[in-house]
Amino acid sequence: MAKRIAVIPGEDAAPEAMGAAVELIDRMGLGLEWTYPLVGEPARAKGLGPFPAEAKAEIDAADATFFGATSGASTRALFYLRWGKQTYANVRPTRWSPGFATPLKDPTGVDFVIVRENLEDSYVFLEGELTDLEPLDLTSPTVRAKAHELGPGRYALKVITEAGSERVIRFAFELARRRKAAGHPGRLTASAKWNMLPKTDGLFIEAARRLAGDYPDIEFETLIVDDFAHRLVLRPQRFDVIVLPNLYGDILSDAAAGLAGGLGLAASGCYGEKYAYFESAHGTAPDIAGQGIINPTASLLAGAMMLEHLGLANAGARLRRAIERVYAEGRVLTPDQGGSASTRAFADAVFSALA
Ligand code: ATP
Repeated sequence: MAKRIAVIPGEDAAPEAMGAAVELIDRMGLGLEWTYPLVGEPARAKGLGPFPAEAKAEIDAADATFFGATSGASTRALFYLRWGKQTYANVRPTRWSPGFATPLKDPTGVDFVIVRENLEDSYVFLEGELTDLEPLDLTSPTVRAKAHELGPGRYALKVITEAGSERVIRFAFELARRRKAAGHPGRLTASAKWNMLPKTDGLFIEAARRLAGDYPDIEFETLIVDDFAHRLVLRPQRFDVIVLPNLYGDILSDAAAGLAGGLGLAASGCYGEKYAYFESAHGTAPDIAGQGIINPTASLLAGAMMLEHLGLANAGARLRRAIERVYAEGRVLTPDQGGSASTRAFADAVFSALA
């Protein structure tokens, strides 16, 4: 049966990248069915809310969702894809290819994946006034003051659960195992700031240490997150799979994208037990909206991850190879990569390079 994909193009420049990516993947003739749930501005324009029930049903009925990026209007749909669908593992690969505009002197062999916990940590959106904490009468042993007496100010909760940590860490171990079978080192790095946050980050790292016993074939290490950030920049080649709590993962995967050549190249897939959605790691690039120059590589690489997820691994690999060819030739590149080609011209070049 044909695979059905729900497409949410998003806002600002994101639809330009998504339009080019969907068109190219469609031209590959894989018999995919594309549906466009009405969310955000287009839904509002029809007198509906930003995330109508029909849109939710369309997402549910699809085999996966392909998401652009949102600056606000499509946020409700994104929250549904993440928390509604419990897509707990955010997979962000960083793989340098000849022609990517990297700042590294020697990027050869940069090929790792950050697995970011996607639902917990500071992203439980529980913030408030410090005075609200008064009934809890919390005293910080370090600051030697009651939390609600620290001054006019606010707090944010950081939540790390045992089950939430275990499932994403297990996912990362399994990914390291699959990568090892494909010739990668088979190494998992778990990182957090457990020296300063022994209860929350400590729980995450303890879960990783415990699960390491189930994966004797995978080399396992722990790194305090500042040490990890330093090593990531100095010698990214040493990493294979890295698992991180949400906030560190969000920040450091963007840093990783910079190492390979920029956000325009960084793909992302969010996986749950029953659903997955795919998006670029970058935002909506509002500064270049309407110019037709956004780099669609991140969306295309996310598309390749999606094809793999849908059981079309050969097509995904074919698309990735075509992108690599275009970068290796270096003739048709978008401005963020030092070229002058439009989004469409780049996508056409990738289509012509499909073997
Ligand atoms: P968010 O908060 O949603 O992550 P942001 O505004 O912080 O969004 P981006 O939208 O990712 O960040 O843009 C950061 C910069 O990178 C902008 O100058 C943007 O034009 C550029 N950029 C991002 N993605 C691309 C792309 N695919 N092609 C070209 N430039 C891009």
